[in-house]
Amino acid sequence: MARRRQIYEGKAKILYEGPEPGTLIQYFKDDATAFNAQKKGTISGKGVLNNRISEHIFTLLGLIGVPTHFIRRLNMREQLIRQVEIIPIEVVVRNVAAGSISTRLGIEEGTQLPRTIIEYYYKDDALGDPMITDEHIAAFGWAGQEEMHDIADLAIRVNDFLCGLFAGIGIRLIDFKLEFGRVWDNDYPRIILADEISPDGCRLWDMQTNEKLDKDRFRRDLGGEVEAYQEVARRLGLLPEGADGAVLDLEKHRLSKGK
Ligand code: UDP
Repeated sequence: MARRRQIYEGKAKILYEGPEPGTLIQYFKDDATAFNAQKKGTISGKGVLNNRISEHIFTLLGLIGVPTHFIRRLNMREQLIRQVEIIPIEVVVRNVAAGSISTRLGIEEGTQLPRTIIEYYYKDDALGDPMITDEHIAAFGWAGQEEMHDIADLAIRVNDFLCGLFAGIGIRLIDFKLEFGRVWDNDYPRIILADEISPDGCRLWDMQTNEKLDKDRFRRDLGGEVEAYQEVARRLGLLPEGADGAVLDLEKHRLSKGK
């Protein structure tokens, strides 16, 4: 069989041509990077967990009417997605101060923000993803006015939903990053949620202990990365109770249940 065509390779994922026009296959790697790829590593089993966690969250978002690129999960590391024109903006939603907002504005990590803040960053590794405003987005035509309205609206809906979802499993959603894409329906452009939602792009703190259950474990050399990602999956009900470190249990469990 001919090797399928690779469309794009990012830091944590690879995109391959999909089985039908307008589709792609999103492959989740174990590679991890931080600080604009100055720090590189591998978190063994991360790709499997992120594929499953992102599938779960995108499916739930679809059920509440948030349009997403997710079609279905194909196997442990791959999912079928809709091809989109990616909007070159990283949308960061913050509920609690941490990371760059704490450093930049001198706000202690863990401080509840007076209101949810949405920030935009221009997706450009060579430039280190600089922060931008609506003005830059409009001036350089990265997205239209109406599209930006839809993006902000969707980001808030996703935040409200995720805050509740995570609060229900004892996790505080500190902040997260979203990416959006444009699809064309009968010559009419529409914004849908793309990329992934996983502990790679979220800050998730245990509500009781403030323990970090996300990529900050890797960024800050705290160790226990895969265990933290597993804990998130377990609380979301995606791992069999009592799973103890065997990431692949996830797949065995599902296969044995014929799902
Ligand atoms: N984030 C991300 N990709 C990026 C930058 C940030 O997924 O390229 C996520 C990050 O995991 C965190 C949120 O966006 O949940 C806010 O990140 P921040 O601006 O604090 O940057 P960082 O401290 O990660 O450099």
